[in-house]
Amino acid sequence: MSTALSGDGADLIIRGGRIHTLDPRDTTTSALAVRDGVIVATGADAEALPARSTLELDGRTVVPGLNDAHLHAAWLGARWPHLFFSDTPPEQQPSGRLVSTAGERRATLRRAWRLLAELGITSYTEPGIGPGEDDGETGCFGSDMLDAYVELHREGAQTSRVTLLRLFGTIDGESTLDDFERGLQTPPPSTDARWLAIPGVKIFADGIPPMATAWTDEPYADGTTGHLLTRGGGDPLSAFQRMIELAAARGLQIAVHATGDRSIAEFLAVLERLDPAPAAPGPHYVVHGDLATPAQIARMRDIGAGFAIQPLIAAHTHSWAAVQLGEARVAAAWPLAEMFGSGALTTLTSDAPIATPDWRPSLDASLRLVTAAGGVDDAELRRRLLRAMTVEAARQDGAAEWKGTLEPGRVADLTVLDEDPLEPGRAFTSVTVERTVVDGRTVFARD
Ligand SMILES: [Zn+2]
Repeated sequence: MSTALSGDGADLIIRGGRIHTLDPRDTTTSALAVRDGVIVATGADAEALPARSTLELDGRTVVPGLNDAHLHAAWLGARWPHLFFSDTPPEQQPSGRLVSTAGERRATLRRAWRLLAELGITSYTEPGIGPGEDDGETGCFGSDMLDAYVELHREGAQTSRVTLLRLFGTIDGESTLDDFERGLQTPPPSTDARWLAIPGVKIFADGIPPMATAWTDEPYADGTTGHLLTRGGGDPLSAFQRMIELAAARGLQIAVHATGDRSIAEFLAVLERLDPAPAAPGPHYVVHGDLATPAQIARMRDIGAGFAIQPLIAAHTHSWAAVQLGEARVAAAWPLAEMFGSGALTTLTSDAPIATPDWRPSLDASLRLVTAAGGVDDAELRRRLLRAMTVEAARQDGAAEWKGTLEPGRVADLTVLDEDPLEPGRAFTSVTVERTVVDGRTVFARD
């Protein structure tokens, strides 16, 4: 099948391989034509166009550019190559102030972008930058980092598209209703949303199950249940509810760090009460969702909200969480198969630099989570995993109309792989990223 937008020739034709468009019909095509950074034709229509340049795939595979919907790029660039889940011993882990000057902030972002281009990642969400971190320990999350983003953005220096959420408290810590309200009154800088979108806010509701800081209905082994991190407004729950209402009333997208079933329940309850829900640039979503229940997942789907999930965190902290939660509860945690089955918006993300930003081990870990719950390793499941890092991530960005698939009218963001990752039995980690194209321009080529 081939389709084309009208107009004159192409800047670039990509041909001679297997191109998974991930369009709604799961079309595979043999060629793409690109003009002004946008795909204008596929298949025979693309090959028939006169073009200024050609990229021969020589049998390789193309997928839409990967989109990591929760990745702390500034922090990753500052810490690279040290990840939290790695062989780096604690005494060799970077600590304290990581970046201090404007030059260091720019270098940090550029380092992250080079790394992401090498991994075939063309878009990501930077989840939480703002004034609450101006005196933060690392220097990676404050207003100065937002300035560095905007500066590089205006210089046209980006090689990844970015969705940035503002943070009016501390990262992985407390926030107050006063600071949140004050933050909302500061307008975000004006940017081209196709490269640097600033659609909403990040709120930290709770901690994580292994530390017994996720807010849960049932107590941990030590008898505690965790608690909310929001402050002000009389009590933590009122502060949390008010923050969501205020952000929603301003038409902002809301991402809530919530791992416990209780904090997810309270987020859901506010979202369900918003009637009519004011239009936001993208759907609201839970970040992590470790202990989401099947009923909560279904209710999230019903209101068009979703989840940003980290399969490598699940793999790394599983046994640690079991100590606090007990085997039965941990067996039901990270319900990825349930999320896929429900049809709720679900993205697969790294939370780098916690885990590696490499999407391949992340998709292998996802595959293990779903097959352990009875799923079958076939092309359909693999396509579903890839969609969670392309199509669904674009949906989370509120950008499904112009990125995430390889169809006429979508931007030419794509990743060339040496092998087809949809073949059952093949580890995603055995596939090599050969080339990364953003907006029709090559930002990484092996050799
Ligand atoms: Zn995070």
